[in-house]
Amino acid sequence: MPVDRMLPTPEARDLIELTREIADKVLEPHVVEYERRERYPAEAFRALGAAGLLSLPYPEEFGGGGQPYEVYLQVLEELAARWAAVAVAVSVHSLSCHPLFAFGSDEQRRRWLPEMLGGSMIGAYSLSEPHAGSDAAALRCRAVATADGYRITGSKAWITNGGKADYYTLFARTGEGSRGVSCFLVPADTAGLSFGKPEAKMGLRAVPTTTAAYDDAPISAERLIGEPGQGLSIAFSALDSGRLGIAAVATGLAQRALDDAVAYAREREAFGKHIIDHQGLGFVLADMAAAVDSARATYLDAARRRDAGLPYSRQASVAKLVATDAAMKVTTDAVQVFGGYGYTQDFPVERYMREAKVMQIFEGTNQIQRLVIARGLAG
Ligand SMILES: Cc1cc2nc3c(=O)[nH]c(=O)nc-3n(C[C@H](O)[C@H](O)[C@H](O)COP(=O)(O)OP(=O)(O)OC[C@H]3O[C@@H](n4cnc5c(N)ncnc54)[C@H](O)[C@@H]3O)c2cc1C
Repeated sequence: MPVDRMLPTPEARDLIELTREIADKVLEPHVVEYERRERYPAEAFRALGAAGLLSLPYPEEFGGGGQPYEVYLQVLEELAARWAAVAVAVSVHSLSCHPLFAFGSDEQRRRWLPEMLGGSMIGAYSLSEPHAGSDAAALRCRAVATADGYRITGSKAWITNGGKADYYTLFARTGEGSRGVSCFLVPADTAGLSFGKPEAKMGLRAVPTTTAAYDDAPISAERLIGEPGQGLSIAFSALDSGRLGIAAVATGLAQRALDDAVAYAREREAFGKHIIDHQGLGFVLADMAAAVDSARATYLDAARRRDAGLPYSRQASVAKLVATDAAMKVTTDAVQVFGGYGYTQDFPVERYMREAKVMQIFEGTNQIQRLVIARGLAG
């Protein structure tokens, strides 16, 4: 049963309908095979781009969909319910556009945003390094100023869409300390830029996660986004929005696990009745439903604050924490509902559980979300 959503406009309702149609046609039929073969769904991204679903939260004047964040996130949720890896890639693409949109000059935005939001390009966000994930300020990749720009040398890690993206929103060191990081928009064909082979991951296998090596890679000065040294505050500002994307993806994945578990529990019989009619199991499903609804409510609350121009950083961390912990619990319980069959690849619930795990880790681990929330409480 489709989720009965509360949407702000008739246009948003149409958009959700369109998303469901496209997702049922271009995502659902391919997810199992592509995930198993670790095959990149380029055609799916093309279809989503052609329908305008890769640029929803950005203004129309730059080629975006002009949608409120609360609508964009519900679209992401619908995508995640069919194919979590694709939804994560769409969320990261949106994250990668944020620095240029929020911190670029008018000229930079006019020059690059329309093509980045045009539907045929995919972006990546490159902050993490092999030794620096949670502690992003420890990053070492260096951009040395030259007469007409910068030369970049160093290693980046864990890049979603790595090797597939058309551009990389890169954070590299132009000085020392936490005020010595800058943000650059790097085209994929930059000389001296190469990518490692995709990590062998537990889940989300259809979309590659790679390292990148910068070997004295030249980048023109006009591709510096914001001020030199402003990089970390740009990175963290983008992550506030990105975390909401991950919260929505986690909610969509949890919703799907719940739907599959309910459908199975209505059919499967034990001790002469459907297992859903055993109160012990019905209560498991009830807790799963409560967790999904709570996850959705927390991300929508944060998104509505963002749409209203209110501070939402703390709420974004709460949403990421609540929704991804809910996804982990709900997908694990879905495996339980399926019994022994849940532990096999004959049903997708084992994949949902593998996919949920990483959501507690990327875009700030859930320990880091607690740190952000606790710091807020400490003033
Ligand atoms: C599939 C995948 C995709 C990713 N995509 C991207 C991407 O597109 N772009 C990008 O830049 N990065 C990406 N990442 C990187 C991701 O954001 C990092 O893995 C994450 O931030 C954690 O960093 P780390 O792996 O270095 O772990 P560490 O920082 O080494 O942490 C290890 C453990 O210590 C805990 N810990 C660390 N510091 C503290 C503290 N102060 N208090 C309490 N606990 C702490 C952590 O919570 C964690 O449990 C991706 C990662 C994965 C797995």
